[in-house]
Amino acid sequence: MIDLRSDTVTKPTAEMLAFMFRAEVGDDVFSEDPSIIALEQKTASIFGKEAGIFCPSGTMTNQIGIKVLSDPPGEIICDELAHVYQYEGGGISFNSGLSVKLLQGDRGRLTANLVSEAINPNDVHKPKTQIVSVENTCNKGGGSIYPFRDLKEISELAKNNGLYYHLDGARIFNALTEADYTAKQVGSLFDTISVCMSKGLGCPVGSVLIGSNEHIAKARRIRKVFGGGMRQAGYLAAAAIYALDHHVNRLKEDHLRARKISDILNGLNYVEDIMPVETNIVVFKLTEKLDLNQFLGKLAEMGIKAVAFGPRLVRFVTHLDFSDDDLNELEKSLKNFRI
Ligand SMILES: *Cc1c(COP(=O)(O)O)cnc(C)c1O
Repeated sequence: MIDLRSDTVTKPTAEMLAFMFRAEVGDDVFSEDPSIIALEQKTASIFGKEAGIFCPSGTMTNQIGIKVLSDPPGEIICDELAHVYQYEGGGISFNSGLSVKLLQGDRGRLTANLVSEAINPNDVHKPKTQIVSVENTCNKGGGSIYPFRDLKEISELAKNNGLYYHLDGARIFNALTEADYTAKQVGSLFDTISVCMSKGLGCPVGSVLIGSNEHIAKARRIRKVFGGGMRQAGYLAAAAIYALDHHVNRLKEDHLRARKISDILNGLNYVEDIMPVETNIVVFKLTEKLDLNQFLGKLAEMGIKAVAFGPRLVRFVTHLDFSDDDLNELEKSLKNFRI
């Protein structure tokens, strides 16, 4: 079975599991789990931030990050494709009491010009603009990477207007693998960053929210209210420590395989269009004569799982458990495909 539905489908490697078994643990609600404390500090220091907090999911780190920065009533600005808006169940209004202003960026990426026009004037009729949230890489943008200049210009604009700046960095290491900027440069721009360990890094569970001591102290209270205070979860944090040490450099292999998939798709008569492949996500459009569900059904019969990503759109995501052998098998199946 070749599973390209998401980079979350990976299982821990034998080495990761062995490392998890050896973890020292304690009750994290009492701040006594050495593995969780180590992971939080390690993640924060990679990005040059003061503190971190380990959570069960990236949805929780995004939602806590936004709640920490919000002061309702008010408004957050993000791209219309953003995970925080599209895939978190309306959590921004439910948890933080903010309205959301959606912008149309370029494959999920905003610019300072776009954001600037969206900041509300100081007028009691208007919700007070409080936060700008960006996503790097952008999932629905096909794994697109932000240029540093745009991240920085938005950060300056946010500062000048008294706005907080949140990064959904579920796949920030995929971006850093290809981009010409560093984790510390990214860290210097944002108030809060959500980093997922369960995506390309191959952990079974977990995300870390990083920021200032003050913001993360507030995040600890909110995590408890959200029911995200875990106990001896250091076994899971250990997986993330292992992944930060061993699974970051290999992300370029996932990106190479994604580019190879794009080349294969390029030669197929039932593929109309392919989004530029920048990282580990391949989004492509089927021609009109091929029904999306029929295509996915046939692929599944051939042992290949993928997801629909919009009208006539299919997404493939490469990951730790997708090998060169799998790539060869995928190539054969795609080339032999008949309706
Ligand atoms: C996966 C993902 C998240 C977090 O998802 P969880 O399943 O809650 O861990 C957040 N943002 C983006 C862009 C993602 O792809």
